[in-house]
Amino acid sequence: MPALLFLTTRPSPLPHVLYLALLPLHKWISRIVVFQSLLHTILYTVYYARIGALAKLKKLANIWGILAMLLFIMIAVTSLPRIRRVNFQLFYFVHYAATWLSVVMLQYHARPNMNMISTFNIILLLGQIIYRLWNTRLSTISVIPVSPAISVVEFPLADLSKKPILPSGHVRMNNYHNFWLKRWFYHLIPLQHPFTIASLPNESMVRLIVRTGKFPLKTNSKYYITGALEPKVDFMSKSGSRDNNRLLPFQSATPMLLLSPLSFNINAKRVFMVVGGSAISFGLPMLRILNFNGVTVKLIWVTRDHRDMKILNVFKNNYNGLEIFVTGTLGAEQDLQIDYVDYGPDPLGLPHPELQEPVPQALPSSSDYNPETTLTSSSYPKYGSISTDKSAFSSDLDHSQKHNEDEFDFTNVYSATNTLKRKKSEPKLFGPPSPFHKDEAFRKPKVIIPPNDENYKSDVESLEDDDMKLTIPAGVKLVFGRPQLSNLDYQWCLQKECSLPSEVDDCCVMNSDVNITHVDDLANVWVVAAGPKGLVESTKRWATDGGLHFHEESFSV
Ligand SMILES: Cc1cc2nc3c(=O)[nH]c(=O)nc-3n(C[C@H](O)[C@H](O)[C@H](O)COP(=O)(O)OP(=O)(O)OC[C@H]3O[C@@H](n4cnc5c(N)ncnc54)[C@H](O)[C@@H]3O)c2cc1C
Repeated sequence: MPALLFLTTRPSPLPHVLYLALLPLHKWISRIVVFQSLLHTILYTVYYARIGALAKLKKLANIWGILAMLLFIMIAVTSLPRIRRVNFQLFYFVHYAATWLSVVMLQYHARPNMNMISTFNIILLLGQIIYRLWNTRLSTISVIPVSPAISVVEFPLADLSKKPILPSGHVRMNNYHNFWLKRWFYHLIPLQHPFTIASLPNESMVRLIVRTGKFPLKTNSKYYITGALEPKVDFMSKSGSRDNNRLLPFQSATPMLLLSPLSFNINAKRVFMVVGGSAISFGLPMLRILNFNGVTVKLIWVTRDHRDMKILNVFKNNYNGLEIFVTGTLGAEQDLQIDYVDYGPDPLGLPHPELQEPVPQALPSSSDYNPETTLTSSSYPKYGSISTDKSAFSSDLDHSQKHNEDEFDFTNVYSATNTLKRKKSEPKLFGPPSPFHKDEAFRKPKVIIPPNDENYKSDVESLEDDDMKLTIPAGVKLVFGRPQLSNLDYQWCLQKECSLPSEVDDCCVMNSDVNITHVDDLANVWVVAAGPKGLVESTKRWATDGGLHFHEESFSV
C-alpha cells in the first residue's frame, strides 16, 4: 500500500519525474494488490470451509478484511477505462474515499498488526493534503470565450503559490464553495482539474486554454488554484549559467539575450511537435520559447473547428513553424487523431534514395525560412494523406511580403443559400472556386471554402458574422483534413543546420565534421506530442520507429 500511495503523490518527490508519468506503475501495482487480496480472501475462505470453521469469517477482524476487499473491488471496477472516461467524478470519489476507508480497515484486520505500514499510509495521505493546501491559493478568474469549444481563462501570476519556471507547466483548479463544510470535503477529496499554462512563465497574467466541458468556469468567480507544476521536458532546462557549447551556430550569445527570461538551455536542434485540440495550450509556449532560442521547430495542431483558430489572435505570438489541420466538427476532441500506418512498405522512407545525395531545396513551410537551413533531401510541399487537390485549401504564407496578417473569409461558405444547397445534395463544393493553388501565397482577405468531403465534415450549418472572417497570423500554414505522419516529416527531422554562414548570401556551409553520424543527428531531434491519447500514441510509434527522442504530454488520465 505505501508504494501505491507514494506513486500518486503530486508533485512526485522523485527527481526529474512528472507525477503523471508514474500513473502506469501505480495502475500495475494496484492490479497486483487487488489480485493478491482476492487470492488471500478466496484461499482463507476455502481453508475455513475445509476445516469446518466458516463461522470464523464472522469475526469482527475478518469482517473488516472482507469490507476492505469489497472496497478494492469497487476501486478496480470504477477504474475500468469505460467507466472512468464516462463518469470521471464517480471514479475519483470512489478512489479517494475507498482508499482512506481501506487503510483504516486493514489496520483493524491485520494480525499480527501492521502499525508501521498504516503509519506510512496515513503520513502519505495526510502529507498530500497538507502539501496541496500549502500550494493552493484562491484567485478570481476571467473567462474569454474564443469558440464554442475553447475559452481562455486568465488570472494574475501573483496568485500562484509557485511561479512557473519552464513553459507549458500546469495548474490544478478546483471550485470554491461558499458553504464551509463542502469546502472542507473538497479539500479531503480534491477533484482538481489540470490545465496547461499557455502563457509564458514571465508574463504577469496566467492564461489557460480550456476546452468547454462539465467543469463550470465563470468570469469573476473564485477558484482554488494549485501549482504551478513544472513539466519534465528532457531537452529543456533553466539554470543560472548557460552552456555556451550547446548554442547553435546562428544563436546569439549576447548577455542581453542570455539574460532574457525567454532564454533556456535547450539540448535539441530540431523539435517536431504534434498537438490536438486544447493541447495547443502546451504547444504555443513551447513554440515561442523554441523559436526564441533558435531551435528549428514545427508545430502541427490538429483541431476540429476552424473557429478554434481565433485563439491565435488572443495570444499574438511568433507563430513561425505552426501548421494547422482542421478536421471537421463531427466527433469529440478525444477522438482527434494523426494517421501513421507502420505496417505498409517503408513508412519512414528508410533507406531513401533521396537521402543519399543532398539536394538543397527549401520547403514552403514557414519554419524553413531560416536562411541558414539547407535540406539534405528533396522536399515536398504537403503532408501525407492530403492529396494535392485537397491541399489547395492550404495556405502557405510568403515571408517576403511585408504584411503580417491574413484573413480567411467564410461568409459565402456558411451563407443561408449555400447551407441549404449543401444539405440537399451530395457532399460537394459550392460557391466561387477556391483562390488557392498549391504554391500561391496570399495577402488580402480571400474567400476560402472548407471542402465538404471526407477531409472536412462539419455539422455547423450557419455561423455568426464574427466567425466568417478569420485573421490568421503570418507564418501559419492551414490545411483542411486529417494529417498523416510520413517520411516527409521524418526527412524534415533529419534536415541539417549550417555550421557557419557563408559569405555568399543565399548559401551556408554544412557541418563538415566527418565524425557526426546518423545516430548523432537523431540525438539532436525531439518529437513531442500532447493531447488526445490516440494522437499521442500514433506520434509516439512514428517517432520511436524512426529512432527519434519522444516526449509525451497526455491530457487524459
Ligand atoms: C497534465 C494535463 C494538462 C491538461 N491541460 C489541459 C488544457 O490546457 N486544456 C484543457 O482543456 N484540458 C486540459 N487537460 C484535460 C482537462 O484536465 C480535462 O479535460 C478536464 O479536467 C475535464 O473536466 P470535465 O469536468 O469537463 O471532465 P468530464 O466531462 O467529467 O470528463 C471528461 C474527461 O476528462 C478527463 N478528466 C476529467 N477530470 C479530470 C481530472 N480531474 N484530471 C484529469 N483528467 C480529468 C477524463 O479523461 C475524463 O474522461 C489536461 C489534463 C492533464 C492531465
